[in-house]
Amino acid sequence: TLLDRGLGSWPARRARIDPDATALSQAGRTRSYRELAVRTDRLAGGLAALGVQRGDRVAYLGLNDLAAVELLFACGRAGALFVPLNIRLVARELAFALRDSGSEVLVVGPGVDAVAAAVIAEDVPLRAVLSIVEVPGVASAPLEEVLLGADSAPAVACASLEDPAVLLYTSGTTGRPKGAVLTHGNLTWNTLNQLTHVDVSRRERALCTAPIFHAVGLGQITLPTLLKGGRVEVLPRFDAAGLLRTVEEFRASSFACVPTMLQMMVDHPSWPEADLSSLHTVVYGGSAVLERVAAAWRERGVEVVQGYGMTEAAPGVFMETPADGVPRPTSVGAPHFFVDVAAVGSDGRPVPLDPSTTPSELLVRGPNVFAGYWGRPQDSADAFTGEAGDWYRTGDVVDVDDEGRVRVVDRLKDLFISGGENVYPAEVEAVIASLPGVATTALVAVADDRWGEVGAAYVTALEGVTLDPDELREQLRTRIAAYKVPRWVFCVEELPMGGTGKIRRVDLRKRAADDVAALLAAQ
Ligand code: ATP
Ligand code: MG
Repeated sequence: TLLDRGLGSWPARRARIDPDATALSQAGRTRSYRELAVRTDRLAGGLAALGVQRGDRVAYLGLNDLAAVELLFACGRAGALFVPLNIRLVARELAFALRDSGSEVLVVGPGVDAVAAAVIAEDVPLRAVLSIVEVPGVASAPLEEVLLGADSAPAVACASLEDPAVLLYTSGTTGRPKGAVLTHGNLTWNTLNQLTHVDVSRRERALCTAPIFHAVGLGQITLPTLLKGGRVEVLPRFDAAGLLRTVEEFRASSFACVPTMLQMMVDHPSWPEADLSSLHTVVYGGSAVLERVAAAWRERGVEVVQGYGMTEAAPGVFMETPADGVPRPTSVGAPHFFVDVAAVGSDGRPVPLDPSTTPSELLVRGPNVFAGYWGRPQDSADAFTGEAGDWYRTGDVVDVDDEGRVRVVDRLKDLFISGGENVYPAEVEAVIASLPGVATTALVAVADDRWGEVGAAYVTALEGVTLDPDELREQLRTRIAAYKVPRWVFCVEELPMGGTGKIRRVDLRKRAADDVAALLAAQ
């Protein structure tokens, strides 16, 4: 039989090599590659029987689940786009994503009962709502029955690498999340890129713990492990103690995560006793990690490898090289194997990335780079530059030093100008985070009559510590230039977080404007 070239063919391709090896597991339930291949075909047939056609969108709302990973492959097999939704969004935002993506089918997974019911109440036109587990208050049909009960007419699709596979929403750090269309080819090339950097093997025992609605969860370890024939244990939700325990019990060899997760584990009381000896690599991406956190992992003998990328690049662009073993906290490592990188030159055109052309915005080109934003022709056009229009504008400023090490300075959008001087919040945040007692921090710009813009820092304290805003500013004065010292410091209980563990800067900016206005009014 003919196999297509898309993700949907991966289980069957792997089953030709390692049919009995375990592909997926979750709390004792397992699927071998052979079983996964059979179920992928049957689920795809079920989707086709439901009326899902090539190019249709199938949304998934739920915690990470073995069935959701199967659904990803089944969608690929059926030629449909898998649209994993961010479970931290509220019903209105989810309804937006469903409408924006024009999803025909919604599959509800575990852990989202209340929000699922609220989304359904928003009256989004859907052909079908299926559920993995019963959802109280939601009229849904059990996925297993509907899809596997169908007469499994073989799915028609024979996906090519150019066909869209996944519609993945960006984190929404700078505005409303945008749906990036990732093709089968984008995800395949990213998988190969990851494998040329990280030693994922067929003996891998990986944990899928970062949410699969984010590029880190899907792209960094999960798909590479499944291509190599290793085993992926799916973890529904992240909690620091739970993950540390699972690493020990499952003898996990690797996982991918976002920096907040690494930090929460290091700061957890069970960290010192946790047995991490089975781990060879932990990959993180999405934002920078605090130096103290990376150091704590390395002290425990675990190679924590930084990945830099974005949803639009499926996601890998740069990655630290694990083999050299030298911690390089200020560098993102080397570009991925099949990725080209460049800087925006002074005339706006792509130029080689080197000390003389940076700091500048980073451009990325390669077979892993997305096909455009769903339903947003203008944003898609604006996202690319260069003669052939194939350089993706990352919106991130990078800097290259004399030894060729690349450092992500900050996002262009976060940079602000205070009294004529450029302030990169990421730089200031790193200094604030190194002050004693500080847990996390974020700096945003607020308008200022005198300086144009000034910084407002939000700071949370480590457990049992009380921080004083004036003292923090005092300590910063000796560490950074005066124009970088935040004019305002707010000590808070928590920062507004998006579903991928990133601080929601759009929200924080609004809040800072209000907080500063209130302070000024009180003065
Ligand atoms: P949106 O595009 O909706 O504003 P987002 O850019 O945060 O949200 P993602 O695609 O999840 O959405 O994140 C990609 C961005 O995260 C990159 O453009 C970069 O700014 C940042 N980033 C990723 N990895 C790193 C890293 N290792 N160090 C610093 N920043 C990183
Ligand atoms: Mg972005």
